Amino acid sequence: MSKKQFKAESKRLLDLMINSIYTNKEIFLREILSNASDAIDKLCYLSLTDDKVGLNRDDFRIDILVDKEARTITVRDNGIGMSLAEAESNLGVIARSGSYQFKGEMDKEQSEDLSIIGQFGVGFYSAFMVSDKVTVLTRKYGESEGAKWESSGADGYTVAPYEKESVGTDVIMHIKPDTEEEIFGSYLEKWKIKALVKKYSDYVRWPIRMDMERQERYETGEKDDEGKPKFDYRTVTENEIINSMVPIWQRGKNEVTDDDCIRWYKEKNRDRKDPCALIRVSVEGSISYKAMLFVPGEENENAFLGDNKGGVTLYSNGVMIMEKCDKLLHDYFEFVKGVVDSPDLSLNISREILQHDRQLQLIGKNLEKKIKGELEKMMKEDRPKYETFFRNFGTHLKAGCCDEYGRYKDFLRDLLIFYTSEDKQITLKEYVENMPESQKAIYYASADTLKHAISLPQCESVRSRGYELLYLTGPLDEVVLENLMEQDGKRFCNVVTDDLGFETEEEKKAAEERDIENKELLDFVKESLGGAVTAVRLSRKLAAMPCCLTTEGGITLEMERYFRRGPSEEMRKLRANRVLELNAEHRAVQALKEAFESGDKEKAANLAKILETLSEMMAGCEVEDPASFVSLVAELF
Ligand code: ADP
Repeated sequence: MSKKQFKAESKRLLDLMINSIYTNKEIFLREILSNASDAIDKLCYLSLTDDKVGLNRDDFRIDILVDKEARTITVRDNGIGMSLAEAESNLGVIARSGSYQFKGEMDKEQSEDLSIIGQFGVGFYSAFMVSDKVTVLTRKYGESEGAKWESSGADGYTVAPYEKESVGTDVIMHIKPDTEEEIFGSYLEKWKIKALVKKYSDYVRWPIRMDMERQERYETGEKDDEGKPKFDYRTVTENEIINSMVPIWQRGKNEVTDDDCIRWYKEKNRDRKDPCALIRVSVEGSISYKAMLFVPGEENENAFLGDNKGGVTLYSNGVMIMEKCDKLLHDYFEFVKGVVDSPDLSLNISREILQHDRQLQLIGKNLEKKIKGELEKMMKEDRPKYETFFRNFGTHLKAGCCDEYGRYKDFLRDLLIFYTSEDKQITLKEYVENMPESQKAIYYASADTLKHAISLPQCESVRSRGYELLYLTGPLDEVVLENLMEQDGKRFCNVVTDDLGFETEEEKKAAEERDIENKELLDFVKESLGGAVTAVRLSRKLAAMPCCLTTEGGITLEMERYFRRGPSEEMRKLRANRVLELNAEHRAVQALKEAFESGDKEKAANLAKILETLSEMMAGCEVEDPASFVSLVAELF
């Protein structure tokens, strides 16, 4: 029989695949099983209108037959089969198949980077990754004669008529001999095959059967010395269905309870804790899909077991396309786990293509709305639970507000909660709703801890007016507010750096006059501090405290602290412009003024240094030279 050549493009692909050091060879079984399942779909569909098919729904099956000695795995289906001409055109050429898409992508990339092969459904050809010869015996429904197609890889294939008893297809894979790098023989182990079916093809709709051996205890018929029956063990072979066929997410809410789903999640993710939210979606329409998503209760303790990353697994009609697809949901929801199954998604999909897949984008968008809705519901109905959720995953949402120049901020803002001076956590919307008529802005104080934020001297005047105050303690919080810009028309006001807007015009004028009056003193203090601060002012915010530190310019003390832990030297060097504010009414500042006016410059400079250090301490900065500070203070006694 003369050997026929593959079409040029198929040959190149086969070459690539066979010779690649391809790490994900195991998907070959998924591909062959999925073809078998498609072939059964077709015949089953036909049987609905054609009595002559003679098969009921329950008669369709896929069998996996393993012959260890001959080193073959056969995948047998009783589906539609192929005619000789079809065998030739379907298997001899890369046509509409995923392999074709793959080749297009390879050409576009202009590269021979083999690692990307693994991201594609490569169809029938993937059998050659583990086989040195593939034989296909097939007979099409309605035809009396079958065909035998055979190929040992890139050098070509043969195809000839073949007497086949029944309709359907056998794909016989002759498994490659073991090499030093790879034990191909492991694919002939039934436990391995079963594991691959469970991993990739558990939800193929048709039963996948395989003979499984197990040990059975039986009565031998003989009696022991005491006259009791003797037992022994024997190997029994049973034909088992090794896939579970209907995935849990395909079943309706009346069939599968939420508890069943949660049990499934915990088992799958080795998570001992219940998820804090479960979202079950079933959509029929221009795009149909089913989804079952979980918001974990906490970061999974079993992270080290390697399955802590969130991510949603994609299925198309029960066949797994991609584990932990990171293109479905945005990063701000990356903690969400679960599955999405849509017959509208192509099996042959790569991470690169996924990003631009319209179907997937639409599904993702809808699911994000559902997730948000579920979180809002939790926030409303069970605030403590939401607070726990937010403690674990709030950072993702905050980062999301800043991503891509704040593109997602309006979608996410209502999910953020902040601590307030009323000793609770609230959303910005709630804050604004609680605002009295007289309050013009949303006040916040930012520090590294809650305790510290509460003790900031600048907070006094806000609290004393009865206004609520947000305490920001997360490293990202200030940047988040900067991105949000406003809430329901109210601006954000940093109590440390911004004008609180409390002064009347007269008060403002009086304060300006006071600044001019004290100009000499303020200049002196600034100079004596030798560049530690960029400005010295009389405070308009302080009540009980003598002084405080504020900043001007884009960088606050909080940001400075954040930058100090930054990844680059340049970042770590960034400093806030410090402003020392003095409370003119306070005894300590009056003492400074007296020393200055009486000409005791040394004492005045020391007092200035003490006040500056005190304000640094209150702002949560470290005292650079505690010993000299202590001697300065001791001098006062
Ligand atoms: P794809 O499945 O992506 O179309 P494949 O390379 O896997 O690409 O298969 C090529 C074609 O060969 C299929 O589209 C189908 O027409 C045919 N085929 C493969 N396996 C079978 C089978 N078991 N029964 C019937 N037809 C098959």
